[in-house]
Amino acid sequence: MLDFTYEMYRYLCRSLLDAGYHPTKMENYPDCLFANRIFLRHDVDRSPKQALEMAKIEKEFGIVSTYFFRTVPQVYDKRIIEEIVDLGFEIGYHYEVLDKAHGDYAKAIALFEQELTELRALFPVRSISMHGVPFSPYDNRDLWKKYDFRDYGIKVAAYHTLDFTKVRYLSDTGRTWDTEKSNLKDLISDAPEVQLAGTCTLIGYLSSELSDTCLLIHPNRWTNQPAIWIYNLGYDMLSNVAKMMIKKFRGVKRL
Ligand SMILES: [Zn+2]
Repeated sequence: MLDFTYEMYRYLCRSLLDAGYHPTKMENYPDCLFANRIFLRHDVDRSPKQALEMAKIEKEFGIVSTYFFRTVPQVYDKRIIEEIVDLGFEIGYHYEVLDKAHGDYAKAIALFEQELTELRALFPVRSISMHGVPFSPYDNRDLWKKYDFRDYGIKVAAYHTLDFTKVRYLSDTGRTWDTEKSNLKDLISDAPEVQLAGTCTLIGYLSSELSDTCLLIHPNRWTNQPAIWIYNLGYDMLSNVAKMMIKKFRGVKRL
């Protein structure tokens, strides 16, 4: 089975449920009382249509999750956001305000508040995750060294609120589930290094070692359209090479 296709995504959903996991929204951290919870997080970096497709697949399995939307024009599609809300999912805010404000903290927090208000016209947003631009000199999370996201009615900040000594964190960033290989900014200092090349390996690992997990899945990486799949493969390969170069020269920042 080809990886990062909807066929594989259905297999992943089914396998998580069969293994005894309870997928849930990010806003349910830490209140969800089930054991073996999967805090299912989707960062919508591109292609909102693919986010909607992924939500429909999860709905087939009775799974709920959180879709974090950027507010850039190519992603911020109100109709699609409303459709995802109608399906019963949580909408979060995928912020990149320090990048947009070129490192000006006062401008960045004003923009954060403005964009959050816009998004709250569609959904009562309580969860945020930062968008990491690999080649930017800024780390959007640094905003919270100066300000407190709780002052803006945020309950869950994906990199700050979860206790990663208790919740395992895995991401499809860079087309691999390895914790080290292709991530530049998306790293958690408490996460142990695991080698998980593909989604089948990930399923085997999660099924054999049940515990609370935060899974970050980018909808734009998953498709059933061959042209998009090939484009994504090329895009991920090129950006992985670029990230390796940056790591070599600049080092890696951990939270
Ligand atoms: Zn992102």
